[in-house]
Amino acid sequence: MAKESRVDKFKRLIFQQKNIRNVCTSAHIHHGKTAMTDNLLAAAGMMAAKYAGDLDKGMMTWQHTDEQERLLTVDAANVSMVHQYGDEEYLINLIDTPGHVDFSGNVTRAMRAVDGTIVLVCASEGIMPQTETVVKQAIRERVKPTLFINKFDRLIKELKLGPEKMQERVVKIITNFNMLIEKYAEKDYKEKWKVNIADGSVAFGSARDNWALSAPFMKKKNIAFKDIAKIYDMSEEERKAWTWENAPLYEVILDMVIKHHPNPIDAQKYRIPKIWHGELESEFGKDLLNCNPNGAVAFIITRIIVDSRTGKEISVGRLFSGTLKQGMEVYLNQAKVKQKIQQVYIYDGIKTESMKEIPAGNVLAIAGVTGDASETITVEPETPFEEITHLFEPVVTEAIEAKNPADLPKLILVLKQVAKEDPSIQVKINEETGQHLLSGMGELHLEIIANRIRTEKKVQINTSPPIVVYRETITKASKEFPGRSPNKHNLFFIKVEPLEDDIYNAFRSGECGEVRVKKRDDRLVKQLVALGVSHDEGRQYREIYNDCVFLDQTRGIVAIGEVIELIMDAFEQVVDQGPLAREPCTKLKVSLMDAKLHEDAIHRGPAQVIPAVRDAIKLCMYDAKPVLFEPLQHLKFEGPMKFMAETNSIIQSKRGQLMNVEQEAELDHVSIEAKMPVSEMFGLSNDLRSATEGRATFFLVDQLFAQVPRELQDKIIRQIRQRKGLSENQ
Ligand code: GDP
Repeated sequence: MAKESRVDKFKRLIFQQKNIRNVCTSAHIHHGKTAMTDNLLAAAGMMAAKYAGDLDKGMMTWQHTDEQERLLTVDAANVSMVHQYGDEEYLINLIDTPGHVDFSGNVTRAMRAVDGTIVLVCASEGIMPQTETVVKQAIRERVKPTLFINKFDRLIKELKLGPEKMQERVVKIITNFNMLIEKYAEKDYKEKWKVNIADGSVAFGSARDNWALSAPFMKKKNIAFKDIAKIYDMSEEERKAWTWENAPLYEVILDMVIKHHPNPIDAQKYRIPKIWHGELESEFGKDLLNCNPNGAVAFIITRIIVDSRTGKEISVGRLFSGTLKQGMEVYLNQAKVKQKIQQVYIYDGIKTESMKEIPAGNVLAIAGVTGDASETITVEPETPFEEITHLFEPVVTEAIEAKNPADLPKLILVLKQVAKEDPSIQVKINEETGQHLLSGMGELHLEIIANRIRTEKKVQINTSPPIVVYRETITKASKEFPGRSPNKHNLFFIKVEPLEDDIYNAFRSGECGEVRVKKRDDRLVKQLVALGVSHDEGRQYREIYNDCVFLDQTRGIVAIGEVIELIMDAFEQVVDQGPLAREPCTKLKVSLMDAKLHEDAIHRGPAQVIPAVRDAIKLCMYDAKPVLFEPLQHLKFEGPMKFMAETNSIIQSKRGQLMNVEQEAELDHVSIEAKMPVSEMFGLSNDLRSATEGRATFFLVDQLFAQVPRELQDKIIRQIRQRKGLSENQ
């Protein structure tokens, strides 16, 4: 029989759902994801082995030049490989996610496409802030984690630990990791998803040096910890030969993936109820639960890649049901349009390979559709997947303009592409002034995007200094206020109050996605009741938007159903631009209490309803003691102990608030946690670098909002209004 070609092998395996694993790597920055992906690929024979894991020669999974300069993997790159386990072959679709929290939008989306994640933790640094973030994100999507303790060579070479100390270190990391699972997992998964050295859901090794081990593998090969301590006494050649024979990275890791991560059929049974809120008993619901290749198509886009030369879009995502075929007509549920799929691709290593058809249970790419990331693609209109929520919101904005006015149309195109490629970026295009606004999660985030526009998209731009985006909210309940339509024929009675803390926190942590309730949604009501909302009130919820809610508390108003969408449009408009300084609102609970509607539909169109409702909400907000919230970042600073004083004084000078200090004398290491207003953080990296000879760094742990100090509020509102060209008086 002729030998099966690689493509034929992929063609066969994409149909064997039980032998597919969709996984991603995730980790704190620089804990070694890229090194691991590259070495896995190299071993799979897809990359010249001599390049693998060797930074100097360039890493193959890197796509953007700015990443090479910064040593960050900004975009999640897909790779697929085949691995033999026991007597069977498996297809592993692996997504390499970025390690910087500023780009966590990409991490969350990658999690939607996969069923398992290999979390890498540096053996010497241990669990870091972003380790916690990625574990939280995974669990929220019901993605099962396994643990790889990386950079083991550092324990041997730098810290010179003996076999016992090494084991202690491993146990400590596993314990801390399992504490995260305990903290974030839902009840049913708290025990089930804890990792365990004995069963092989934990591996350790060195991604860079291309070796790994797990307890089952050590047993099989009869290796003890004391043997590992010796491998760095060998010459490099000897070590390579020994590890390739006794501790091959790809075999240990891919075995772990196959054994401890679920196949798509098993995973979809419990993931679908979490990420899709339609009727599970319907035909479509059953197709999803069963990952049915013969069922109705359900594909979610998790990433868009724009080819910088052709401008052509490729959408990467996960097919949860049905089979996607070349030439098929599909429906985009958010964009509400039909489009034709021109190509369907799978990944062969890092290359795409065009196929005729690809069945459910695979991570794949399509060309020909132009949906946004998180778009749900079906054949007939269906309930879309839950929005992919991001842990952090954009809070920093800068204005961008083309240096050369002739580049203006190109810049608009490029900005649209940038927003598609990175959903944590928001773009506001102003074709009249040519001054566009780009919002991101931090200064570094915007800097990278601006550089990408210059070097990759080749548009020369000027950027303004970044500014902070504030939030408007209220501090007490308002009285009820009426809003009258311009034609005086319609009245809307509105009340606004602060949203309860528990519910607000649940929204912020992504427990409850944004929705507009079309018809009664029992699952939402149940979810709200679990958060402490009364059953009656839960049924009045009509919309959750930007951590604000809209409730319809009216009863028996005949035509209310015909105007309710307009009322919600008005609600969204105020939430987008509050009354104080036209900044977005947060933590509002807006209720429609009563309405008087003209009986003739012609007199209650958008031009009547929207301004009336908007005015009423704003009146309520003025009555409810409105205040400005500013974004703060909870940061963790890390560095050698001798720079503690310098780091502290930088924190103090920027309105920072110290939260915790931990010193590890043995490692000459101090970590300082502080909360700091984003408005004071510009230039922080430079200040820190020069004060500490570049030896200290900081990481984002969390983002939060807090009220602007009273004495600053009026001044800030005045500045924002001035900047936006608004009258000084609100
Ligand atoms: P990522 O940010 O998680 O993708 O991390 P990278 O793979 O880019 O690795 C970050 C840095 O750690 C690079 O300088 C790697 O060479 C280094 N690194 C990766 N794996 C190991 C390892 O096993 N041991 C040591 N000592 N360094 C490693």
